[in-house]
Amino acid sequence: MQDADAPLLDGDEAPPVEVLNPAGRGRAVLVCEHASSAVPAALGDLGLHPDDRLSHAVWDIGALALARGLSAALDAPLVAARVSRLVYDCNRPPEAADAIPAQSERIAVPGNRGLSPAARAARVEAVYRPFERCLRATLDARRGPTVLVTVHSFTPVYHGQPRAVDLGLLHDADPRLADAMLAAAPAHLPALDTRLNAPYDAGDGVTHTLRAHAVPRGMPNVMIEVKNSLLGDAGGIAAIADGLAGMLGTALAACFADADADAAAGRGGTG
Ligand SMILES: [Zn+2]
Repeated sequence: MQDADAPLLDGDEAPPVEVLNPAGRGRAVLVCEHASSAVPAALGDLGLHPDDRLSHAVWDIGALALARGLSAALDAPLVAARVSRLVYDCNRPPEAADAIPAQSERIAVPGNRGLSPAARAARVEAVYRPFERCLRATLDARRGPTVLVTVHSFTPVYHGQPRAVDLGLLHDADPRLADAMLAAAPAHLPALDTRLNAPYDAGDGVTHTLRAHAVPRGMPNVMIEVKNSLLGDAGGIAAIADGLAGMLGTALAACFADADADAAAGRGGTG
């Protein structure tokens, strides 16, 4: 499939990561690791069945549009991967087996089967390293209080089982922002079944970005998971973005109340 000596991403292809609204002055930095269905030409179609090529296994359906809406509402920088998670899942560390999955739920990924260590390393270097460098630089450039928010979507049915939860607020070691958003949910998205650490949790390895980039900085953080059937059209996406922006606004005020009081009193909080 791929010439071992050829670059994974050739010069004509988009870079593996982009930052939208990099100068955004809001308090959130948004991340969308599963934003894209793109597969580099060098990998063909990864051997996917045509019916699976744009399935949820390939990307988080609706997540980038939702993240863009949040970026606009919150004036937030948005770091988005531009390569499918089946090429490399930027929300997994290189040592994780499912960083380059050969099977995703019921979907086989023949192009990921039996990869050599060199082929795996090429994916890490072409996709994951640029992504983590970009996110690190975006966070390094921040001045003032900042939170990290990752934006995802999930399938309504998984291995044949319907999922009742509509909106999941997931955390790693630091629950502050997730707890504050959950408290704000009834006021902003009252119709949704919103839960903490659902439909999966940190024990499933899904909070890598939070753990790698936010927890070591002491930065409040949350992973937002939205049922993708709520993101099926522009109106649905706008409604969810609007509600989440309201929840985040309330939660940010709670998280930074002390720093804001210090600033108002001229004491210069550290954020
Ligand atoms: Zn995702």
